[in-house]
Amino acid sequence: MQYIVIFGGVMSGLGKGIITSSLSHLLVNSGKRVSVVKIDPYLNYDAGTMNPYQHGEVFVLNDGNESDLDLGNYERFLDLDLGEENNITTGKVYKEVIEKERRGDYLGSTVQIIPHITNEIKRRIRKAGKAGTEITVIEVGGTVGDIESMPFLEALRQLRREEGDSNVMFGLVTLIPEIGRGMEQKTKPTQHSVSSLRSLGIVPDMIFARSQNQLEVDTRKKISLFTDVPEEGIYSVTDSESIYFVPEMLHGQGILDYVSWKLDLGGLMYRDIWKEFRENLANPSERVKVAIVGKYTALTDAYISHREALTHVTGKNGIAVDIKWVDSDKLKESVEVLSDVSGIIVPGGFGYRGVEGKVIAARYARENSVPFLGICLGFQVAVIEFARDVLGLKEANSSEFNENTPDPVIDLLPEQEGLDSLGGTMRLGLKNVILNEGSEAFEIYGGNKVIQERHRHRYEVNQKYISRLEENGMIFSGCDEEGVRMEFLELKDRKNFIASQYHCEFKSRPLSPSILHERLVMNALKYKKEREGETSRKYSIA
Ligand code: GLN
Repeated sequence: MQYIVIFGGVMSGLGKGIITSSLSHLLVNSGKRVSVVKIDPYLNYDAGTMNPYQHGEVFVLNDGNESDLDLGNYERFLDLDLGEENNITTGKVYKEVIEKERRGDYLGSTVQIIPHITNEIKRRIRKAGKAGTEITVIEVGGTVGDIESMPFLEALRQLRREEGDSNVMFGLVTLIPEIGRGMEQKTKPTQHSVSSLRSLGIVPDMIFARSQNQLEVDTRKKISLFTDVPEEGIYSVTDSESIYFVPEMLHGQGILDYVSWKLDLGGLMYRDIWKEFRENLANPSERVKVAIVGKYTALTDAYISHREALTHVTGKNGIAVDIKWVDSDKLKESVEVLSDVSGIIVPGGFGYRGVEGKVIAARYARENSVPFLGICLGFQVAVIEFARDVLGLKEANSSEFNENTPDPVIDLLPEQEGLDSLGGTMRLGLKNVILNEGSEAFEIYGGNKVIQERHRHRYEVNQKYISRLEENGMIFSGCDEEGVRMEFLELKDRKNFIASQYHCEFKSRPLSPSILHERLVMNALKYKKEREGETSRKYSIA
């Protein structure tokens, strides 16, 4: 097993995750069996209880692990399913070590950061690659110098010592600011980051220099001189139209030759499988505008998997999607912002804030035949809206938002009753969904009766209301294996209104986009063409 570790210098937000994903993509498509690990030095056990405002989306893996959104990037760039072992946090490491201590596994010795914590970190890194993995790529969250990442840096230094220089490579992502009239490229922040890394015993082999413009010849020479990294190991990573162009950017600078030389991988034969995908992204033939109605619209990383899923659709079909981020609360004042969109997505969410605006979006879509896709909370909101307006249950709600509602059309999953712990306790991960033959869902999934999708929810459609909803034109065309959990809904006589309890955005990949996002975009394009020139839409507030 060999290892490539990517650290971050200067500051966060430089795109370390995309660089890690891109290098891994190049290696995978050169025939290497690669695994990727994200180290998150925070104390949380996983990202499950974190606020999307601070950390962006919580990404759900097949095994139900609620992980950092970078795992989503890895899965998309590598077309690989990862698991809980691919996300190492301080919380997981310390919990394990303290549990061992309580069991008496350390036989009376003093338990310390070195060696006990660092050993546990190395153990986790080594087992993260499944059997057959040749290279594990590790991204270290945070920035060199952070107190909380110290034990991880120390463990990685030890890893190189134990595995040997020819089996472990270190890369550092830094910033090259460009200032003054002449936009002079400054290398000092990079020099400082490299020296703090070296003071911890970690000597980088590669530098990823983030700058607005291409790295100049002299800048590259200067970085090399001051850091000892050969020029072949210094890569210019400029701001890019799309994250999916970054692998090519690195490939064009010969990164595979350098890595192959360092790790003695022999001649790597790289196959560029994203050529057509990139061409469609760069030159789309059509455009549609789609609204994403959420409560974290100031921070679109909270809905990153939806954004990527739509990008994947563009890469496949050449239909560019202009996303209009709509703050759901604003819809309570006016629905005007929706008047120019050809499709509406209501994504997942928790808590009452923003819900009434999402109900308005669902009603607007239903009344105006605007293509609609509801996901998880968006699915539940579609049920609430329908119950209120069509069934006339004016106070219908989810018991998540109003415990005393007379009509809890969305209610707690029975197995959630009495749970007192929030972390990792929802209905999580990959589950079978059974589709009804002859339904729109069945048609969308190409005639497959059984599909597998990822979940993350505590509430569900209340059994008691299903027959009434169905008698009035809502069709539940997908459910779980036992036939009790509703998973998919559509409307009678209306093909472009669909919603799922599961999160299809998590399994979307560049060359195999989420089928529901693809369907929404196709429906939006059709809607746009049919309505060209038409202006008036209605909206009734009950
Ligand atoms: N809050 C809802 C539930 O727990 C929806 C969850 C979600 O959208 N991920 O069921």
